[in-house]
Amino acid sequence: MKNFAEIDLIAPLQRALADEKYEIPTPIQAQTIPAALSGRDVLGCAQTGTGKTAAFALPILNRLGEHQPRSKPNSPLVLVLAPTRELAIQIGDSFATYGKHLPLKHVLVYGGVSQHSQVNALNRGAHILVATPGRLIDLMEQGYIHLNLLQVFVLDEADRMLDMGFLPDLKKIIKQLPEKRQSLFFSATMPPKIVELSQRLLANPISVNVTPEKTSVERIEQQVFFVERNGKRELLKKILTKPDVDRAIVFSRTKRGANMLAQKLLLGGIKAAAIHGNKSQGARQRALEAFRTKQIDVLVATDVAARGIDIDGVTHVVNYDLPTEPESYVHRIGRTGRAGAEGLAISFCTSEERQDLIAIEKLIGQKVPLAPGQPAPQPVSEESTSASPQRRSGRNSRSGRSGQGQSRAGQAATTSGSQRTAGRGSTEASATDGKPKQRRRRKGTRGRQQSGQATG
Ligand code: AMP
Repeated sequence: MKNFAEIDLIAPLQRALADEKYEIPTPIQAQTIPAALSGRDVLGCAQTGTGKTAAFALPILNRLGEHQPRSKPNSPLVLVLAPTRELAIQIGDSFATYGKHLPLKHVLVYGGVSQHSQVNALNRGAHILVATPGRLIDLMEQGYIHLNLLQVFVLDEADRMLDMGFLPDLKKIIKQLPEKRQSLFFSATMPPKIVELSQRLLANPISVNVTPEKTSVERIEQQVFFVERNGKRELLKKILTKPDVDRAIVFSRTKRGANMLAQKLLLGGIKAAAIHGNKSQGARQRALEAFRTKQIDVLVATDVAARGIDIDGVTHVVNYDLPTEPESYVHRIGRTGRAGAEGLAISFCTSEERQDLIAIEKLIGQKVPLAPGQPAPQPVSEESTSASPQRRSGRNSRSGRSGQGQSRAGQAATTSGSQRTAGRGSTEASATDGKPKQRRRRKGTRGRQQSGQATG
C-alpha cells in the first residue's frame, strides 16, 4: 500500500502526520482521501477504529489549507455532523491534531451546556463547524449559523444518527445546504433508510466499503468465562490485576452497575472510574482524560457512553455483562485492537446470558473460545431458551428514558487550529441550557439503540 508521502497532501498536513507517526494510510484513508481531494462525493461504509476521521479530515484540511480563506462570522465553510458530543469532541480533536500547522479554526457546537461560548466562537468566525444535530438547529433558528457559504458537508455515523431519532433534524439541516457542495457520508451499516438518505445527499459518489465488522473482530483475541453472577466480581479482580493488563475497559449493562463496580475496584486497589450517561459532561471528560493519561487503568462503561471512545492502547475489554444486542459486542470489543494493535476481549457469561452469547456467535460467525483452563459449560437446555425472550423484553421495557437526552446535551465550543495545541481537555463543561429534548422512542423494535439507551 502507498504511504502518506505518496498521497498529494500539502506540507503542513504531511508534517502533522509525521508528528503523529502515521506512515501508511488505513484502507478507508487510501480510498477516500484521493477521491475527496478530487472533489468527489464519498459514500463510506466503515466503523470507528478504521481511521475514518482522518479519511475525511485530511482532504478537508487540504482544501482549506491550500487557499487559506478567511473565516467569516457565523458562516462555516465545512460542517461535520456527528450523533454524540463525545464523537463531536473527538472529531474536533482530530481536526486540531491534523491541522495544527495550519491557521484554520474549528468550532464545536452541542447541546446541554450554555450556548454562550459557542455563539461567541461562531461570531468570531471558524472555518469548520463540528456539530450534533439538535444544537445546530437551535443555533440556526436563532440566526447564529448560516450554511450558505458551506463547501463541504460531512455526515458521520449516519446509521447511529437514525437510530437515535435524528432523521427529522437531518432532513431540516439538509434542506439548508447549498446545492453546490461536496458531501462525505459515513455509516457503519447500510440499511435501506441509510441508502435512501445517502441518495438524497450525494451526487455521483465514490463508494468505499472497508472492514466489514467481522474482519476487525477476527483480529481481536476473544475468550469467554462461564461464571455465575456472584462469581463475576472476584474473577474480574483476578483478571485486572494480571501484569499484562495495561488499560482496560469493563462493560456493565447498567449505569448503577457501572458505578458500583468502579467503587468496588477502587476499594480493591484498582484505579478505576465509571463513565455513563448519568455523569455530567465534565465528569465524563475527566474520566476519559484520566484513562487516556493513565491516571486510572480501568474505565467501567455502559454501551452508549463508550461509543466512539477513541483511546489507543486499550489492552483488554471485559464484558462484565454480555450485551443483549449482539452488534454491541462488536462495538465493545473494537475498543481494543485499534489501529492494528493487538487486544484481548474477555466475556463473562452466566447461565442466564447463554442466549446472548449464542446470538453474538451467530453474528460474528465464530465461537468465542473458552478461556484457557476453563471447563466447558453445560449445553443450553430448552428451558433456558424459552426463558430468554421474557428476560429480554423485560430489559427493553425498562430501557431508555435517560440516554437520549444526554446524546444532545452537555456540549461546548472550542476554537482550534494553530492556537490549540493540547488538543484535548480544553472543552468546557457547565450548566445545562434547560432545553433537554426527549425524543419519542420507537416502540416494539429491539433496535440496538434501545438497549444502548438503557445502559447509557
Ligand atoms: P478513527 O476510526 O478515525 O476513530 O481512528 C482510529 C484510530 O486510528 C485513531 O486513534 C487514530 O489516531 C488512529 N489512526 C488513524 N489513521 C491512522 C494511520 N494511518 N496510522 C496509524 N494510526 C491511525
